[in-house]
Amino acid sequence: MVSRKTVSRMSRYRRLLQSLRESGVESIYSHQLARHAVVSAAQVRRDLMVIGYSGSPNKGYDVAACIDSIGSFLDGTARQEVALVGVGNLGHAVLSHFAEKSPSVAIVAAFDVDPELTETLIHGVRCVDVSLMEGLVRDLGIEIAVLTVPGEAAQDAADTLVSAGVKSIISFAPTPLALPNEIFVEYMDITAALESAAYFARLGGREESAANGDGDIEPMVKKLESLLARSNMKLEDLATNIGARMVTAGKPGGTTVAKVYAGDRVSDLLNEASDKTLLVSNLASVQMLRVAELMDVPGICFVNGVEPDGEMIQLAEDNDTLLMVSPLGVFETCGLIYQALDTEHA
Ligand code: NAD
Repeated sequence: MVSRKTVSRMSRYRRLLQSLRESGVESIYSHQLARHAVVSAAQVRRDLMVIGYSGSPNKGYDVAACIDSIGSFLDGTARQEVALVGVGNLGHAVLSHFAEKSPSVAIVAAFDVDPELTETLIHGVRCVDVSLMEGLVRDLGIEIAVLTVPGEAAQDAADTLVSAGVKSIISFAPTPLALPNEIFVEYMDITAALESAAYFARLGGREESAANGDGDIEPMVKKLESLLARSNMKLEDLATNIGARMVTAGKPGGTTVAKVYAGDRVSDLLNEASDKTLLVSNLASVQMLRVAELMDVPGICFVNGVEPDGEMIQLAEDNDTLLMVSPLGVFETCGLIYQALDTEHA
């Protein structure tokens, strides 16, 4: 399973790649696609690796092959059908926008309470009275719905859709929906988007991290990140401070990091790795070095005295990845990193 943010970035990459292909572009580097998609190059490489696209980040991605890979990831084998509820201003706009657009996901039925609309064809989609919705959605096996009804009608419509078998709902209505946990709900809130845009426009476009909705991050992690942000401590000095043994020297001139991530699952490490992250792990394997290479990770600290072998050291040297080995476990090592940074600022 991947996160909804990853899926949404895939969709964005595909649209960008399709429009690049239409303008004759045949290959693209991760940093170029990243610039178009307004994400980091490491993010692009990580996302494409997650879907198993094996193009070379060094030689540039083949645009057509990349579109195909994203397609095999995003699109099911059969066409997925969608119902739209509420054929007013927005409903009309959505139907018009998607008319004959995506062969893999198609709006096949629309529902409304207005007798003037029902039994008409709107942008090629039949509009049916909402009293028939539950039966029709069930009979057609529709599992996705778009809600463009007024706020006060949204919950009832959503409940009916769920009892008819709908599993994913995109709601434009301004009211939150109370639905079973297993139902995927995406809210399209243009008002919140406009108010955020207006707020950040007043601040000159700057998005402060404090206003970035990171309220669920553990205070300890926040403190560590704020210590790192203010720290000039080079990784080699950090190694000395925590009693770790340096194995390879890393980038010439030394490296500072903005984040420390401890873990022993390659998928987690891939998610958290970046060119500003020190990875702390007891997973002393070539895979770790590959993660570091792919994500431009500047340093890895192996714990529990686990020694990297010759192949790993060679890879680290080739990629200027600093390797250190801490004699202690993950928690003790992270605690010492915290202490070293805290002392630096005391
Ligand atoms: P609208 O009044 O033009 O259309 C609503 C439609 O829903 C009407 O055709 C109405 O007959 C139908 N309807 C009402 N109750 C229903 C029910 N129980 N079942 C089925 N259909 C029902 O409104 P709109 O401007 O299209 O907005 C739709 C929703 O999207 C609203 O919740 C609105 O707040 C939200 N929204 C609209 C816009 C926009 O630009 N129009 C932007 C963002 C969000």
